[in-house]
Amino acid sequence: MINKKDAKTLVKKIKGHENIIIVKHQLPDWDAQGSAMGLAHIIKENFENKNIFVVGDRLNDDKDFLPKKKLTNDFIKSALVITVDTGNKARLDFDKYDLAGDTFKIDHHIDVDKYANNQIVMESAIACTEVVTLWAEMMKLEIPAAGAHNLYLGLLTDSGRFLFPKTNPVTFRVAARLLEQGADLKKAHDYIFVNDLKNRKWSNFAFSKMTLSKHGVASIVIKKEDYAGWDLDYNEVKGALATMSGMHEIVIWFTVIEMENGQIKVSLRSRDYDVNSVATKYNGGGHRVASGASLNSFDEISSLTKDLDKLVKNGKEGK
Ligand code: AMP
Repeated sequence: MINKKDAKTLVKKIKGHENIIIVKHQLPDWDAQGSAMGLAHIIKENFENKNIFVVGDRLNDDKDFLPKKKLTNDFIKSALVITVDTGNKARLDFDKYDLAGDTFKIDHHIDVDKYANNQIVMESAIACTEVVTLWAEMMKLEIPAAGAHNLYLGLLTDSGRFLFPKTNPVTFRVAARLLEQGADLKKAHDYIFVNDLKNRKWSNFAFSKMTLSKHGVASIVIKKEDYAGWDLDYNEVKGALATMSGMHEIVIWFTVIEMENGQIKVSLRSRDYDVNSVATKYNGGGHRVASGASLNSFDEISSLTKDLDKLVKNGKEGK
């Protein structure tokens, strides 16, 4: 649960700052953007005279809280910077974070990096939007419909439609609250899960490249030339990951994606195994059964697979 003292500290800090910058992680997903936009709408609704900006890349053309021009250093120095859904400082999508007047972290990742002056971190939460919603509830703040919609998108995606292991009664209570506040179940589901034909064709192509170790570790390696000409953004390319879930024979699965900028990004998933313990060896982290990492070269894939095989050999509880 959220510590009430920390919840009140965040309210106090918001009250004490006219300028507020909300920062999410690089390569945002819907939990990052949903938390940021949801929080921005909550602050706008409940606190007067605030300049609120949500910085960094966006997943869609939502223009709310977008800075119209570059934020000045003086503005940043006077601002409270609230980070959402970002476990470690290196992944923040804001290169001027260190200039911030004050900082507050809201997150649900394994708490490896206490980089902000204050924080609310709830590792048991399936989504960061769950933490934002619980904070708002605890502080008796209004959640406007636009905020509820954004928060619900994070809950829906990070819980894999309420299927992933950390989904619990609190997740459903938060979902109910967000629906009561105006999130629209069908609109949200259609928005996230109805895709184009090309996405299904991509999934089929990507799955045809899947390899499986004898211990049940599946992987799909995607190089730039694989997605060239497909007209897919990063999250669509990453759709390959989901094609490996839901099969008895596959107990750990991961994608290796060569990004446009040459970075080699890994996404790891499992139903039962602590993939985070391996992700941390490869410049990564995240959650026990859903983590990310990055490789220095494709040559590292074989040692990554061996480490994951070892995890399976050691059993679900680990050794
Ligand atoms: P991804 O595979 O990118 O979808 O990430 C899975 C989870 O791990 C998400 O919650 C990410 O925020 C987190 N994550 C991804 N990459 C990293 C990283 N390099 N370091 C720490 N956490 C990460």
